[in-house]
Amino acid sequence: AQHEAAFAQQAAKAVVGAVRIGANECWTGPLPAGAEAARAIVDQGNRYEPDNDHAKLYAAVAAVEGVPVERITAWPGSSDPLNRTTVAFASPKRGIVTGNPTYETIWRTGAWLGAKVTRVPLTADYRHDVKAMLAADPDAGLYYICSPNNPTGTITPVEDIKWLAENKPKDAILLIDEAYIHFAATPSAISLAARRDDVIVLRTFSKLFGMAGMRLGLTIGAPELLARMTRYDGKQVTENLPMTAVACGIASLTLADQIKARRAQMIAVREETLTHIAKRGLKIVPGSQANMFMVEWKDKSPKEMMEAFLAQNVQIGRSWEVYPTMSRISVGSAEDMQKFRLALDKILMA
Ligand code: PLP
Repeated sequence: AQHEAAFAQQAAKAVVGAVRIGANECWTGPLPAGAEAARAIVDQGNRYEPDNDHAKLYAAVAAVEGVPVERITAWPGSSDPLNRTTVAFASPKRGIVTGNPTYETIWRTGAWLGAKVTRVPLTADYRHDVKAMLAADPDAGLYYICSPNNPTGTITPVEDIKWLAENKPKDAILLIDEAYIHFAATPSAISLAARRDDVIVLRTFSKLFGMAGMRLGLTIGAPELLARMTRYDGKQVTENLPMTAVACGIASLTLADQIKARRAQMIAVREETLTHIAKRGLKIVPGSQANMFMVEWKDKSPKEMMEAFLAQNVQIGRSWEVYPTMSRISVGSAEDMQKFRLALDKILMA
């Protein structure tokens, strides 16, 4: 476990100057109009809110996503509301159920809380196994579905998510993490959070929108749920956001054609990379719809492979305990992935 922790820490720390395909970041910065809007608002940085910027953001989200404005809340990224949801709706008495593998922030927060965390293997085709998730802890306080899932990139169909919403205990909360949804050609589950009072959808601008360091995220859910998540600070964190991020988000959200183009670019680079990997006789977890995939190494461990890639100035991702022979690779730019392929070939031939 100590070894694992050290490995995770090493994996999390960015290597400056390397090809960075270890943290599922976007390979490029914000959409140009977003970056321009952020620059323009810097001169009014003395104001908490220069010009009803929150309201403008919420109106833009409501228009793009078709959800009621009173259910939309903005955050500095999605990690904060993910942790608050955990603390608000799980407890030592009411556990948490997640897929396995999945994004582990909720495992950590759940462990801190003293809540029972039940990890349910994905199905054979890498969906969340919603029936097994409910059966594993029928009285949990919080069910978490990450779709597209980190680290597999695979999606869980909205029908499955809807089944869990309808069959879980009435007072349990279903949290759907859609950090990677913009990369996927798949329907969102956001309409569930638009009409049900027991579902929260998490969104972030850290991925396709290229704003990981600028910090902007969203929750969609009933105002009563938000009140429980902000009991100790009265929503303050949602009201004092970095205005550069808000301005960038407003200007980026509605650029449907550019969002589509970014998605198409990522898919083309991902598929080109996967074809190369297949030619080298390596297996992957199939069906990724996001900017990441898991690859299975033959005779080296993920830790050894991470070090071998680092020696080639390429920083790949890490492994998950349930898939101990695989590494997660994020999809970078075409140039990044060309360097990845060259490094891979060198390592395999060594
Ligand atoms: N959820 C998932 C599935 C993620 O992969 C990440 C980051 O990698 C986050 C949430 C949190 O990201 P942020 O706080 O930047 O929105």
